[in-house]
Amino acid sequence: MEESKEEFLRQYGEDYGYPNSAKGIDDIRSSEFKRLDGLAYLDHAGAGLYSEKQMEAVLKDLTSNVYGNPHSQSDASLATSEAIRVARQLVLEYCNASPKDYKCIFTSGATAALKLVGEAFPWSRESCYMYTMENHNSVLGIREYALDRGAAALAIEVEEVESLSGPFKEYGSSFKVLQHPVQRRAVASTEDSLNGETCHLFAFPSECNFTGMKFSMDLVNIVKEDTEKILKGSFCRGRWMVLIDAAKGCVTQPPDLSRFPADFVVLSFYKIFGYPSGLGALIARTGK
Ligand SMILES: *Cc1c(COP(=O)(O)O)cnc(C)c1O
Repeated sequence: MEESKEEFLRQYGEDYGYPNSAKGIDDIRSSEFKRLDGLAYLDHAGAGLYSEKQMEAVLKDLTSNVYGNPHSQSDASLATSEAIRVARQLVLEYCNASPKDYKCIFTSGATAALKLVGEAFPWSRESCYMYTMENHNSVLGIREYALDRGAAALAIEVEEVESLSGPFKEYGSSFKVLQHPVQRRAVASTEDSLNGETCHLFAFPSECNFTGMKFSMDLVNIVKEDTEKILKGSFCRGRWMVLIDAAKGCVTQPPDLSRFPADFVVLSFYKIFGYPSGLGALIARTGK
């Protein structure tokens, strides 16, 4: 038992943020998750657990500070505004996002953040919503907004292959891409693209919460700069924007937006901290 635990951690510990030995994990369990004594909790990916230290800190903060309605000028209100400002800044820093280029918008979760993107995206009938087959249901939901507004929807399968030559040679990874048939809705309220520029959206998860598969961040730059390497057909004209569903990936490996400047990142805090639930964020790129 001890041996297989050591072996498991040697192989996968780094991936899951437990680089130390089994003793490291045992220490964390006995100091911060005392309530797990004798229990094997198997749903940490779906419903992460808050640590006891974290809850002590939350209780201390909420019982020793007065946080007022943020829309006024009292000390209590300013304390709230300051806490929100700091939280936004920490979220941006976590994803290495410059506050000059990105804004953090708090939502009720990753699903609500995805819905915001679906509703606000400038879909037109020239637009394409492209998504990987491996995706959370909430990401697939964006398809309905796109189809309703006359845009096309296109599912793709992306397989990372080992090759240092070929079309992707300037990137760290190479891909094989399979395109499914383009979908359109017959009765859609078609709109021509606003201001003449067609915008397309590509959505993929940094890590799939079902299979654990991690997608290469190189996809961000390839789709934005070199679309025709991934996509055959008529959607290569126009501006491609990229959405990363990092609800799962953020737990152990947040996207580095300084290197992979995605336009939208969605995340969810209970996946990272276990508490609070019902709070997530949309990180949106404001510049080009
Ligand atoms: C959990 C999860 C979501 C949904 O997050 P909510 O905050 O519960 O809406 C979306 N995508 C992935 C990859 C997830 O793991």
